[in-house]
This record gives sequence, C-alpha cells and structure tokens, in this order.
Amino acid sequence: ADHKPSNFLRQIIERDLSQGTYASRRFGGSPGDAAHHAAGQPDPARIRTRFPPEPNGYLHIGHAKSICLNFGLAREYGGACHLRFDDTNPEKEEQEYVDSIRDSVQWLGFDWHSFGDDNLYHASNYFDFMYRGAEALIGAGLAYVDEQTAEEMRANRGDFGHPGVDSPFRGRTPEENLARFREMRDGKHPDGSMVLRAKIDMASPNINLRDPAIYRIRRATHHNTGDTWCIYPMYTYAHPIEDALENITHSICTLEFEDQRPFYDWVLDHLCELGLLSQPRPHQYEFARLNLTYIVTSKRKLRQLVADKHVDGWDDPRLPTIVGLRRRGYTPESLQLLAERSGVSKAGGWLDYSSLEIALRDDLDAKAPRASAVLDPVKLKLTNFAEVFGSESHQEPAHAPVHPAHPERGHRDFVLTNEVWIEREDFLEVPVKGYHRLYPGNKARLKYGYVIECTGCEKDADGRITAVLATVVPDTKSGTPGADAVKVKGVITWVSVATGVPAEVRLFDRLFTVPQPDAGGTDFLTVLNPDSKKVVQAVVESPLAQAQGDDKFQFERHGYFVADRHDSQPGKLVFNRTTTLKDTWAA
Ligand code: ATP
Ligand code: MG
Ligand code: MG
Repeated sequence: ADHKPSNFLRQIIERDLSQGTYASRRFGGSPGDAAHHAAGQPDPARIRTRFPPEPNGYLHIGHAKSICLNFGLAREYGGACHLRFDDTNPEKEEQEYVDSIRDSVQWLGFDWHSFGDDNLYHASNYFDFMYRGAEALIGAGLAYVDEQTAEEMRANRGDFGHPGVDSPFRGRTPEENLARFREMRDGKHPDGSMVLRAKIDMASPNINLRDPAIYRIRRATHHNTGDTWCIYPMYTYAHPIEDALENITHSICTLEFEDQRPFYDWVLDHLCELGLLSQPRPHQYEFARLNLTYIVTSKRKLRQLVADKHVDGWDDPRLPTIVGLRRRGYTPESLQLLAERSGVSKAGGWLDYSSLEIALRDDLDAKAPRASAVLDPVKLKLTNFAEVFGSESHQEPAHAPVHPAHPERGHRDFVLTNEVWIEREDFLEVPVKGYHRLYPGNKARLKYGYVIECTGCEKDADGRITAVLATVVPDTKSGTPGADAVKVKGVITWVSVATGVPAEVRLFDRLFTVPQPDAGGTDFLTVLNPDSKKVVQAVVESPLAQAQGDDKFQFERHGYFVADRHDSQPGKLVFNRTTTLKDTWAA
C-alpha cells in the first residue's frame, strides 16, 4: 500500500482509535428510531464518516474532494462512510439529482455498503426525532418560541463587537413555549410569524450562539414526508442530530462551518444530557474547501450555466461537475489523486486548474494506449512510392507499441501508403530557424515508417497548400538495420489516407477567461470564454475504428483523448481532448 502523508484528520482519527474513544458504541436498527442506540449491536465500524449532499444539483470537483476524503478515511481505517441525502429543506428533491449523486459516488470508486449495512440515509427520516429533541429542549428551558418579526430579530442580534438584545419573548415558561411550539406544528400560525430558538447567550462573541433559530414555519410539501409537517428544522440544528443518529464519529466539513461548531456541540451535549442521545457523540472537524481556478462550483451558478445554455448540459465536458469531468475523460483515479494532493489543511487557498490536468497525466501516462491522430490534416504524397514498393496501391506494414514503456502490451498495426495525412504545421515552404520538419530539400522521418525527403507542395488557386510532396528514402524503415543510416532531426506523425478513419475531435479551453470568475463581485457570465470549445475534423489511425465510448488514448504529441460517451460510436467517432501533453497555460 502506498504511504499516505499524515494530516490533522488522520492524527485525530488515530488518536481516537488508540484511545478507544468510540469503542463502546452500539449501532443497528434504523437511525431515527428512538431505540436505535440502546438496541444496537456493538458497532463493528471503528470510525464512521459521512458525505451529506443536498440533492439540489449535480456534484462537482469540490464534492469529489469531500467524497474522496470521507470515504477514503473510512476505507483507510477500516470504518464505514455513509451517503446521506440532506433533504431537510422542503424543496423539491429531484430524482435526477439523487440518481446522479449515487452514480458519481460509485463511479469515483466508493461504496456506502459496509459491515452488511446499506448506509444510504435520508435526513428527512429523522424529522420525528428532531421534533422530540426540540420539545425536550423546551422542557429543559433551553429553547423558546420567538414572535419577533424577522427584522426585529436581525436588529436585536447585534453584530461583531456589539452584544445582542434579549427578545421580549425570551422569558416565557417551558409550558408556554411548549404550547406555542405545538401550535406551530399544528398549523395554527402563518409562515414566518414565529420561530423556535435555542436559548443560549445573546451576548456571545460568537454570533451563531445568539439564540439561533432551530425550527421555522414553512408550508411546503416535502418530497419524502409530504404535508406531515409545516415546521422544518434549521440545518444547524438538524445536522448534528443526523450525525448522532447515524453514529458518525468524525463529522468532516468545510471551514465555513467552523463558527457553527460550538452550536453543533451545544445541541448534542444537551440532547445527551436529556437522554435522547448517548455518548460518545460525534465531533465536527473542518478543513479548507477545494478551490480551483478557472471554474465555478456553486450549484446555483452551475445550474444557471446549464439552464441558460452557455454549456450543453450538466455533463458538458467543460464543466467541473463529476459527470462533466467524466465525459471530458477524467478518470476516478485522477480525481482521487487531486483530492489527495490538495491535502487536508486549515488554510484555504486556490489550486491552479492545471493541477487537475497534471493529475490526469500522472494517472494516464502509464495506462493509456498510444495512437496516431492528425488533427489539422494536409495530404502528403509520396511521389516515388510505386518505384520503392512496386505498386502505387501497395500497403507497407508498419507497427508501433501500444505503450512505449510496456512492450508486453503488444503493438498497433497499420500501413504506410502512397498518400498519408500529416499535420499542416509539419510543412513550411520557407523554414524558420530551428525548424526540422518538412520543407523543400529537408529530410524527416515518418514515425514508425521511413525517412522521406520533401520536394515541394501543391497549391490551389488561392495559394492554399493542398498537398505536400516528398520521396521515400529506401531502406530506412524504422526497426530495420538501415533505419539509422540517414540521420534526421524531425519526426512526423501521420495516418494513411487509404485506411485512416475520420473522427470529430472536440478541443476544449478554459470555460472562463479569468482565474477567479466569481471573485470580488465579478459577474461570472461576463467572463465566459467564447472560444472554450472548438470542433475539428481529424483522421485517426485504423486500429481506433472500433473505439468504444469512454475509451481513453494518448494521441501522440496531441494529448489525452476520450471517445465521447454519448456521441461516439464505431463508424462515427467523436473524441474529446481531456488535456494536452504539457501545460500550455501559464500558471
Ligand atoms: P453549493 O454551495 O454549490 O450548493 P454545498 O457545499 O452546499 O454546495 P452540499 O450538497 O451541501 O453542497 O455539499 C455536500 C458536501 O460537500 C458538504 O459536506 C460540503 O462541505 C462538501 N463540499 C462542497 N463543496 C466543497 C469543496 N469545494 N471542497 C470540499 N468539500 C466541499
Ligand atoms: Mg449545502
Ligand atoms: Mg453551499
């Protein structure tokens, strides 16, 4: 196994494992049912983490980091990781998003089944428990119904450096509050007329502890619970309970939630004291979110790019969604590599987009079969072909390794014919200094083929070059004893005109023209790159004719490509360029 560098999360987990922090836990039954903790079996998973997406959009590269981190730690330490749909908002959960989230987690290489359990959960299944928790807090004098208006509440919260002002409703008795809260639940009050608040400290330096709301009235049909509820828990109250009911040990989230941790602890410690939950309870740990340049990751912004047709759907290869990255040719391993390399730290920062491309190259270099492709083809005519090979229609066998570092993977077979496609940039009528490819009088090697000598070109009436002319230098075939007899500096990639296969190739550039498209008030739509997608007609070597969607290749000198999983099929090939071979972007 490869050695993973330590980080603060691994250190915390290793400490908890060695101290047996969670050794006494029991787990079983269905979370949310009150008997859950007491009735369970000793928990075989030593640690439990969770990935809790809100099913309101497609997952993106930032989520991939969180998935790799949470599922990765569970795997590394022999624990379990839950997939939890955080659906406590009564907004419509779209099945499309739910399905896509499940697919993305699995595609990334992770599984929520462990120790015989299917650890896929829905936070909305815990509404009953959350409600009981709220009544218990009220009973203990730890929560009250506040009937101030939203504006009054905001004004009385105070702000940084200024303590808040107690609500006139703060002094109500538990009995009064309980009656009021039940009226809220029973639909006796309009939306927004009152909220249940935790009673903590209106002067706390942490504004999140100034009596945060824990329940609000909202008449909305929930996809799971229908119209059972017209009050819904706030995220900051619901989340710690979800974690506790699922026996999560390490609740890992991004730094924005650091200031919420005291309330996370407040909720769990009080519900433990009140006997609704049991110790040892989960703890929250924060790490810096993944920020990559040249992309946006807000679900709202991604949704807008899709809805306004700036891109062709959620899986457009230019999007940083997991489905988009997959269609672009990114591998699960490359995203895991990026997640690992981006590290786990408390210091936020920006990672250059090229780190994603570097991770892909590092993964695919050893794996991807090589292939020849000509992306901007011009015909090369070998004018002495019949003389050298006996006939104009002769097909001279040629072969190249599937992978230069792995001869055991065999070779690709193709043919050299009297006409081949070469890159237009591989010929210059008048060479520039240092140019070693084709120009009249110069010799270069057709890769895996023969040395040729350029003799000129043909042009159309507009002066555009329509064909390059050359002669074959006999007895210089690659792999034969004569191969080195003629020394040349230039090597030309090519594909036979007779057997090459046409292919549509989609070349992508950054979707935005600036590194931080949504920073500092920039409207991200004004910095879209109008040239982020270019489609060219290319020719690829004949062995690629049967390429299947998702097949990945390194096209020699052009980069890594994938057969488009939706649009490509044998006979109608479409390739996406995942990335070039080297970084062509200045950092
Ligand atoms: P958005 O703000 O785009 O709606 P979100 O963070 O609200 O995204 P959730 O579905 O709530 O989306 O996220 C699920 C999990 O993914 C959360 O635990 C969150 O911390 C984590 N996550 C989201 N974005 C990133 C990121 N850029 N880096 C690391 N983790 C992330
Ligand atoms: Mg969220
Ligand atoms: Mg968010």
